Amino acid sequence: MALMKVTGIVMRYANYKDYDRMLTIFTLQNGKISALARGARRPKSALLNATEQFCMAEFVLMQNKDRYTVTSSSILDSFYNIRVDINSYYAASYFSAVCQTLIQEEQPDEKLYSIFAKMLAYMAHSESSALANLIIALCTVLDISGFKPDMNYCVKCKCDLSTSDIFYDNETGYFTCSDCKKPQNKKMSLSSYKALNYIFMHKENAFAKVNMEDWLIKEMLIYLTNYIEIKLDKNLKQTGLLLSIL
Ligand SMILES: [Zn+2]
Repeated sequence: MALMKVTGIVMRYANYKDYDRMLTIFTLQNGKISALARGARRPKSALLNATEQFCMAEFVLMQNKDRYTVTSSSILDSFYNIRVDINSYYAASYFSAVCQTLIQEEQPDEKLYSIFAKMLAYMAHSESSALANLIIALCTVLDISGFKPDMNYCVKCKCDLSTSDIFYDNETGYFTCSDCKKPQNKKMSLSSYKALNYIFMHKENAFAKVNMEDWLIKEMLIYLTNYIEIKLDKNLKQTGLLLSIL
């Protein structure tokens, strides 16, 4: 049995037995790991606060073969405000679900970890819109994962899309001009299109700099959540919860 110290964000937990919690932690050093926090739900447990969802902490883990147990923790940032604001909570939950799909057990992904941490910090500590911060985090992740949609030209006729109405296909996420659209394609406003382009260009540097109206946020999130499900080839239950608050 070996002890190791990691920095991590609690992505989710499941209550277990009377007082325990099984945590899924996104660690900086080891990627996604599951760890048992024994007695974490006892009122006086030193582990209680560090095992809350989205808490960032240093965890000392005892490793026994492929099992981890939390032996102690030290909170770096509890991101408390995220758990008491419905927009922040659903936005962070959605992003956490995307991370859980993208990262592998025991495989570090420092870039993704840093975007997650930055997004949580802006949600918890700034006045900026949680949903706008989610959009910025999602675009940054799509870009670094090589999934950025091709947004400059119509996928069919290759005309410049920045001048006319824009349409996209729900099954591929591709953009077309109004001449090439199919009846089932959805329209995206030029404002959303330009805002998405801006965010893809500036990525995480756009945090706290982008101020968008609610209808614009809704249009962009409807597009992005659909596009992400295509790229991940997975339906996320958090998508419905997120869209329900728009
Ligand atoms: Zn076209």
